[in-house]
Amino acid sequence: MIEHPAFTCENWKLHETELHFGVLAQTESLFALSNGHIGLRGNLDEGEPCSVPGTYLNSFYELRTLPYAEIGYGYPESGQTIINVTNGKLLRLLVDDEPFDVRYGKLLSHERELDLREGVLRRNVCWTSPAGRTVKVSSVRMVSFTQRAIAAISYEVEPVDEAARVVVQSELVANEALPDPERDPRAGTVPPNPLVSDEHQAHGTTGLLIHHTRASGLRIGAAMDHHVEGPDETVIESESSPDIARVSIIALLKPGERLRIVKFIAYGWSSTRSQSALHDQVMAALSAARQTGWAGLQAEQRTYLDDFWAGADIELEGDAEIQQAIRFSLFHVLQAGARGERRPIPAKGLTGPGYDGHAFWDEEIFVLPMLTLISPTAAADVLRWRYSILKQARENARQLGLRGAAFPWRTIHGEECSSYWPAGTAAFHVNADIAYAVTHYIECTDDTEFEQEIGLELLVETARLWHSLGYHDAAGRFRIDGVTGPDEYSALVDNNVYTNLMAQHNLQAAAAVAARYPREAKALGVSDDEIKGWKDAAKHMFLPYDERLGITPQDDTFTQHELWDFARTRPDHYPLLLHFPYFDLYRKQVVKQADLVLAMHLRGDAFTPEQKARNFAYYEPLTVRDSSLSAATQAVLAAEVGHLQLAYDYLGETALMDLDDLEHNTRNGLHIASLAGTWISLVAGFGGLRTSHGSLSFAPRLPDRIKRLTFRILFLGRRLGVEVTAKEATYHLLDGEPLKARHHGEEITLSPTKAVTRPIRPVKANPSPSQPPGRSPIPRSKRCQPRGG
Ligand code: BGC
Repeated sequence: MIEHPAFTCENWKLHETELHFGVLAQTESLFALSNGHIGLRGNLDEGEPCSVPGTYLNSFYELRTLPYAEIGYGYPESGQTIINVTNGKLLRLLVDDEPFDVRYGKLLSHERELDLREGVLRRNVCWTSPAGRTVKVSSVRMVSFTQRAIAAISYEVEPVDEAARVVVQSELVANEALPDPERDPRAGTVPPNPLVSDEHQAHGTTGLLIHHTRASGLRIGAAMDHHVEGPDETVIESESSPDIARVSIIALLKPGERLRIVKFIAYGWSSTRSQSALHDQVMAALSAARQTGWAGLQAEQRTYLDDFWAGADIELEGDAEIQQAIRFSLFHVLQAGARGERRPIPAKGLTGPGYDGHAFWDEEIFVLPMLTLISPTAAADVLRWRYSILKQARENARQLGLRGAAFPWRTIHGEECSSYWPAGTAAFHVNADIAYAVTHYIECTDDTEFEQEIGLELLVETARLWHSLGYHDAAGRFRIDGVTGPDEYSALVDNNVYTNLMAQHNLQAAAAVAARYPREAKALGVSDDEIKGWKDAAKHMFLPYDERLGITPQDDTFTQHELWDFARTRPDHYPLLLHFPYFDLYRKQVVKQADLVLAMHLRGDAFTPEQKARNFAYYEPLTVRDSSLSAATQAVLAAEVGHLQLAYDYLGETALMDLDDLEHNTRNGLHIASLAGTWISLVAGFGGLRTSHGSLSFAPRLPDRIKRLTFRILFLGRRLGVEVTAKEATYHLLDGEPLKARHHGEEITLSPTKAVTRPIRPVKANPSPSQPPGRSPIPRSKRCQPRGG
């Protein structure tokens, strides 16, 4: 994408200098705005041309019956799908009877930019209608971080040489026509016409639509109001019908005269509130926004983002393209999680319909590590959402004949929505992933209130699940059979090492937290015997080892399988899941995404440095990276075992996943975990950051081309700045009490009065491993030098 000549390389913007229909679909995702509650795709103001129209509210979904040829006991019957709700971003323009449509007439210029510091999407167009009238149109769109129910657009029209009669139709539209469904299982299945009208009205400059869904029983309200500045004779009309509220603004503009409209849009939804309550809710949100005004909203947005960047910005000297991608990534992850407030972070955020708007383990293992260290309250809110769906998770466990809670593989509302159980229900590791995110959050924040109220129960219920899912064999080893690990090209395996290590951590953490809060644990029915059971299971957790190869197998039998025939796999046969049957993938050695390698990142304590190097060398030639979740983890381990150039190439892949549309599905939404992977690759990879049991350690090392890396984290309430160059690392404690940390194993004490500088310790690496033919990451050295902007 960014290689497209229309995109320039800039520090704080994603800037498109011309409109290209060939990448319109991708730009709708790239230019999406969100605050974690509302999501607006970057559709053009006038609605058409459009690839996928998209307006989303977090957790606003419809139910659909899951299709099965053969039903089995315990199969989920009903799926949840995020729906395209009432579109409030429409502003259709008529210039002397001609609709403004970039496909007709002459587009003299068309620029768009996503401004990462202001938090707005700007568009400037100069267009000559087929009848020869030239107008300048500009818009600035925002989804407010500070007023979570609000989006706003400032829209201006100005004739260039001759007077023009312009009509702007500002609308709220429900049940927009959608493109035909795709065959790609990752695309999502948006139901047509999902909204039933409850109420519609339009008076003066305002309009309102209230609808409900047929099956999920949710109700949504959308309202708009306008501030209009135009010539004295400007006329305003309004009308509504069940699916449309429209305010039309009509003005005769002389050259040099402008029509300026500020549109305020408010959204609200509820599963319980009455129609009138929802009506009042959106009108109240609208009043507050109107009172703040456009300039006020813009100022609030800038202040919010200034604060965010002060704590989260990462600087990288030596690669301008990656620098831009870093800020783009941080911005979109912030957008996905900022104001979700006890709602999930879907795999695509609120940028598109991909994966039906479901949240997966992506959230806990890729997004939360970053949010915990830069925006801990947003991280806690996501875990509070997990806590809020414990009821469904307990019911799921009960149905599966297990104890505790079995969290769904993919969901919006808490129920399992995967209809393919070998890679859904059987992917039990999601439970340990949640437990991992809980302990990581508590260890990095010392939020004891959260630990007691939320963490304890989540850890206890997931530990119960593991204890009932595994068993002690005749030799006393605790085995977990028949599960699917992160690598979805293997399924229903015995003793997936990632799962077993993460379950071990889960069991130990539950035992520790129950000991810290004995009274509260007792109230959850935890007995001394139960804690002993968890400790025993953790202690005797079985971890297979392949003596012959001297490596850790991904599971009991993985290394005994035949190798996938990579030589005969054509480049256009990736991703393999779209070209080969799962039965064949499952019985061969081929890895979709980091699995054992991820275990070496998250449970690095369970491997020696030599084991890490050997295991990494074994899995690299088998890992095809058919999931966007892989490159970041490979970057971290490549950096740890000393393949710094390779780590850099993987950083490039995770950071440019969407900007370069590497998986050819950015049109359906951004890959939020991969974007968070940019932070992971830099901070855990080149920064070598690890946190464990409240301790903080770094092992920084840079690849040749990177001259300097700086990043900031928030740890135990203190802000810490880290600066790495080829030779040394400097640690600045920016506030708070002194803190101990480790630099390449050496203990250092950080205090706000004095920065600590230490030399970088080089690592001796084995020869760099190879990847499956055609599946190496694009070397950063081969990337063309970025264009200036
Ligand atoms: C990956 C999963 C991931 C899902 C959503 C799949 O392709 O294999 O690990 O959770 O995408 O991002």
